[in-house]
Amino acid sequence: MIEIECDNCERVFEVSPKQAGGKVPCPHCGDVNRVPPAEASQQKELPPRSRTSASFARRCFGPIRFDTS
Ligand SMILES: [Zn+2]
Repeated sequence: MIEIECDNCERVFEVSPKQAGGKVPCPHCGDVNRVPPAEASQQKELPPRSRTSASFARRCFGPIRFDTS
């Protein structure tokens, strides 16, 4: 599964890897979020170029604010 953070309510939820690169509605607020490609982290030759992925990574490794568990 892939964990993504909702752009609207900032809650973290899981989506199927099949949804990678697509869009899914947030189960909490219904806002549609883009899902980062699942294999992106394995393609080390490609520099991160997605603003969404960069923002997601910053949030993941920044102040801990996961509250859905
Ligand atoms: Zn949401």
